[in-house]
Amino acid sequence: MINVQSYVMGKWLEPAADAAPIKDASTGEAIALIGHNGLPFKEMLAYARTTGGNALRQSGFHDRAKMIKALALHLLEHKKQLYDLSACTGATATDSKIDIDGGIQTMLVFASKGRREMPDSQVFVDGNIEELSRDGSFKGVHIATPLLGTAIHINAFNFPVWGMLEKLAPTWLAGVPAIVKPASQTAYLTAATVRFIVDSGLIPEGALQLIAGAADGLLDCVDSQDVISFTGSAATAIKLRSHPNVLNNCVRFIAEQDSLNATILGRDITADSADFALFIKEIVNEMTVKAGQKCTAIRRILVPMEQVQEVSNAISSRLATIKPGDPRDKATRMGPLVSIGQHQDVLEKAQKIATECDLVYGKMPENSNAQTAFCEPMLFYCAEPDEATTVHELEAFGPVATIMGYTSESHAAQLVNKGKGSLVASIFTQSTEVAKACAYAVAPWHGRLYFNNSAAAKSSTGHGSPLPHLIHGGPGRAGGGEEMGGIRGVLHYMQRTAIQGHPDLLSAITSTYVPQARQHSASSHQFTRCFGELQIGESITSAKRTITLEDIEHFAAFTGDNFYAHMDQQAAQANPFFPGRVAHGYLLLSFAAGLFVKPEAGPVLANTGLNNLKFIQPVVPGDAIYVRLTVKRKTRRTAEYGEVRWHVEINNQSDEAVAEYELLTMNAYTDPYAS
Ligand code: NAP
Repeated sequence: MINVQSYVMGKWLEPAADAAPIKDASTGEAIALIGHNGLPFKEMLAYARTTGGNALRQSGFHDRAKMIKALALHLLEHKKQLYDLSACTGATATDSKIDIDGGIQTMLVFASKGRREMPDSQVFVDGNIEELSRDGSFKGVHIATPLLGTAIHINAFNFPVWGMLEKLAPTWLAGVPAIVKPASQTAYLTAATVRFIVDSGLIPEGALQLIAGAADGLLDCVDSQDVISFTGSAATAIKLRSHPNVLNNCVRFIAEQDSLNATILGRDITADSADFALFIKEIVNEMTVKAGQKCTAIRRILVPMEQVQEVSNAISSRLATIKPGDPRDKATRMGPLVSIGQHQDVLEKAQKIATECDLVYGKMPENSNAQTAFCEPMLFYCAEPDEATTVHELEAFGPVATIMGYTSESHAAQLVNKGKGSLVASIFTQSTEVAKACAYAVAPWHGRLYFNNSAAAKSSTGHGSPLPHLIHGGPGRAGGGEEMGGIRGVLHYMQRTAIQGHPDLLSAITSTYVPQARQHSASSHQFTRCFGELQIGESITSAKRTITLEDIEHFAAFTGDNFYAHMDQQAAQANPFFPGRVAHGYLLLSFAAGLFVKPEAGPVLANTGLNNLKFIQPVVPGDAIYVRLTVKRKTRRTAEYGEVRWHVEINNQSDEAVAEYELLTMNAYTDPYAS
């Protein structure tokens, strides 16, 4: 028997003497005890905000990204033990892979994105500098800083590991501590994962606490710097989001709840095609993986009216090969539901769906007093989808889906949108017209649209798989929340603030050189000094170089770029942008490099890119250009080198900017060529 302990202020607490039993989904055997007679929520929140929050905020985004990566690799080493526990929840090996490996992979993606897309500092700059004055002495920028509160993660029973890790990764990357409250039914698996995390010694004290069992009273203690990220049913969501303390303090509340996800078979797809087979496979997969207990599972299947019978037959014959069975048996493709209670709930809802739909595959029990958690798949057909309501509103959280016919793309969209907001809809089509029509019509009601066909099938990730790179969430019934979506998901745990002021101050706050901020002359050429020696805002100014007509002609002959603006005086003059023949923009870039690089081998290892190139005004023969090269931003990349972003301005003899860009180089921490 597992005692599901809570992890409170750095200590593991045993459940109460009268804790409730949790049963194995397949055997019905009691396997765990859960529940406390009250936990010190107020103190837990204070501990997280101070001990955890202070420790996390001392490090920057990259340090925290490294921490998340190390933790993910640590969990990978221990996943076998998690798989064993996962089987008790009814999960097959495939289901466990989605939950456990999926959660770990999500952490790895956030760790990688954190290092690639966030700065090696404590402030995230969101968007571009806004010019607020003519002389450049007053500008604006948006920054994001970590909230000073705690993230409270209230999770559903169906993904006890992924559900926690997909929220922890962006929360920690933001620099915010978390208190996790998993659903009681599967909390023993979450608790085992938390124990591996805590024992790893990789996270700072206070960054994570765990509530095993009920959390009544927790929301009485939240305040306006806290964030609640909820996943579960719409009924619980409305109860929690309307808690007076949440409302009074305007506590950020992210909700992921019920969803009547749909799939559409495009009218261009015929029954003998590979796309049709793909469609059927995806539906059966969505109905049976996790025994249909996925928030993203397909619940409504929309097919052209004339194909209803073929689709129904094809799904039914595939479902006939899948029998719910022991999740520990490798041959089992669908395990039981998580509990007998969940089975009863599914049957009750299926009976309601049956009041307006016909059962075309599966057996409808006479009453809903299920005695086991094993649930046969059920496929319904809805003949009157325009009039029906239950099928568009009621989520049977199990292996249950309904087919309905449509007459046109706009009819299909109307039916899909009757779900009043879903996490995901999929569209199977080869037709760009069908894809466009469906996308425009259903996107406003969805968080994600998944297009699949035989051209994409090999690499496609699945209708039901939320990805860390993309938004997971949906409007309306789906909760109105958004999770993940790359760095967007991190920003949910941060405050965005508009900063206005002189570029000197904006540069200091953002650790990024802002044009027109004070520059200081570099003590020696920047290319001779290592990464750590370079200061933000230090610059060098090159010598001048006069551009001649011969230079332009030589460059044109050498590269083959004989564009008329460089080569034909009359045509160039007739062009509204040019006074006559002008130098090639790429010639200016090449000359600029010739003016600022240091030829000797040194700590600059490579030029890796160039961003935001602007040619501001033309350069004509006789103009003299020079370059100002300023250190804009520095980011550690590996143990040997980091990335330096440079602000490069090319000016003419009148000190007017002719071109501007951001140059990227990789610079060594120690000069590999130093003798
Ligand atoms: P649920 O019954 O609503 O419970 C969700 C969570 O809320 C559980 O951790 C539950 O804890 C907790 N909770 C309940 N009352 C609370 C209170 N007063 N204070 C604090 N926490 C409280 O949902 P579920 O049965 O676990 O999950 C199934 C539902 O979740 C389905 O409707 C499914 O669609 C939805 N879901 C949505 C997503 C998504 O991303 N949109 C993902 C997965 C699931 P206890 O277990 O201890 O009661």
